[in-house]
Amino acid sequence: MHVLSSQLKEDADFAFQDSWSEEKANDIIDGYADHKVVGSLHFNGLLRRRGSKCHLTGSFRVKTQALCYRCLEPIIYDLNEDIELELLPVSRANTHDGYEIGSDELDIIYFENNKIDLDSIFAESLVLELPTHHLCQQACKGLCSHCGKNLNQKQCHCESSLNI
Ligand SMILES: [Zn+2]
Ligand SMILES: [Zn+2]
Repeated sequence: MHVLSSQLKEDADFAFQDSWSEEKANDIIDGYADHKVVGSLHFNGLLRRRGSKCHLTGSFRVKTQALCYRCLEPIIYDLNEDIELELLPVSRANTHDGYEIGSDELDIIYFENNKIDLDSIFAESLVLELPTHHLCQQACKGLCSHCGKNLNQKQCHCESSLNI
């Protein structure tokens, strides 16, 4: 989904919401493939334009699945993230007017041709929020390197024979 900044009224909240199917969400995070989206992704937010600048607050919610890197059991992440961004037309990317009042050092995203591409904004936020270092539990014992058994479920008998 996208919004044209020229259609946003000055200083008035524009509320939006949308969702992506599981398939679309998976296409978007393709390449960050240690996660698989499970179910649809929902996002919503508010846009407020001030002059050529827009302020975006929003949130998204999605479940993803990744595998524990020790035992390879699936882990479900329930992500519920807030985002807040400043949007500026790309024509202002190279100007040197420095900080502007109210910009609070928020992340800035530039848009072209009046087009605020909410899909790509939320796609980028999603990719940044995907957890790394998947562990089903801090004390995960992993797989036995000898017989491949999941040692969280059952201790195998390899240890003694490997313990030379
Ligand atoms: Zn594990
Ligand atoms: Zn074993």
